[in-house]
Amino acid sequence: MRVVVKIGGSLLRGAQHFVEAAKFLTSFESPVVVISAVKGVTDMLIELYKTRSESLYESIRDIHADIAKKLGVSGVEPLLKELKAALDLPEGPDVLDYFMSFGERLSATIMNGVLRRMGLDSKLFVAPIITDDNFGNANPLEDRSLAAEIDSHEGVAVVTGFIGRTRDGRFTTVGRGGSDYTATFLAKLLGYRRVVLVTDSPGVMTADPQEVPEAKILPMMSVEEAMEAARLGAKRMHPRTFEPVTGGMYVEVRNYWSRGTVIGNFYAPPPYKVVLKCGEGSCVVGLEAEEIVKLGGEYVGRFSALVPMPPKWAHDLFVKPYFEKLLWTS
Ligand code: ASP
Ligand code: MG
Repeated sequence: MRVVVKIGGSLLRGAQHFVEAAKFLTSFESPVVVISAVKGVTDMLIELYKTRSESLYESIRDIHADIAKKLGVSGVEPLLKELKAALDLPEGPDVLDYFMSFGERLSATIMNGVLRRMGLDSKLFVAPIITDDNFGNANPLEDRSLAAEIDSHEGVAVVTGFIGRTRDGRFTTVGRGGSDYTATFLAKLLGYRRVVLVTDSPGVMTADPQEVPEAKILPMMSVEEAMEAARLGAKRMHPRTFEPVTGGMYVEVRNYWSRGTVIGNFYAPPPYKVVLKCGEGSCVVGLEAEEIVKLGGEYVGRFSALVPMPPKWAHDLFVKPYFEKLLWTS
């Protein structure tokens, strides 16, 4: 069974990072690889859409042309020319999505080139997910007409994350941070069970380590908990990331070296998993949120409750004790 492996944009900054990602990908057999835009590029493209600044265009061009040149891969020049021509387009939500589409189209073109140079039979698939025309926040449709080709390609398939296309062929985007969502959606559409989301964090953490230094990596999490954590803004994850994860599907959130967090349709300890900053207080996500509500917390979801204290306290109170009890060392 093929694996869908998504490489986050935070891991794609320069030429050597593409090589690092490509090496990691060789540990999977003919994976379907979902690629995000190079770090910061989506923001730059939005700015470019607004300002139509020549110098900003040049920065975006140079980032990609330099990486492509260092790696000896072709195919970015035509895209960069196309982006240049886009500077003359009128405003409109479809045009903004068109601008944003270049981030993933460029990075996926580079990644495909790197994998091919490594001797792999890699093929590029641009926006194989069909969506409605709700530009900026498009809804993927259960339409396999383009994606089926991925399934029939026997080598590595490199796919642009985040973007889709309408039935009449216009590029759409599924919302910021949406390449994880396109990865899980694609897996579901093609009937693959395992999705690996590779990011710069070793896994889903029990809290933001910037705020709570003793935050731990969760070994496991249920889909429901992950959905609530994403909805409540965990790591700016797209709220729909885990929606397609049904039945025997599961998702691993990890970096290149960690074992990461496995998210699936099972119930796993501890009862409280993630503490997030929620306004003045904290949201605690876990299957036993009910118990926190009994203590005076307020439901913010079926498996999450708001408590009036800073994340560090909430973490000490609800999460930490279980890590001390269980023999978890992470
Ligand atoms: N490149 C897109 C963004 O920055 C999608 C993603 O990175 O997941 O929002
Ligand atoms: Mg992302």
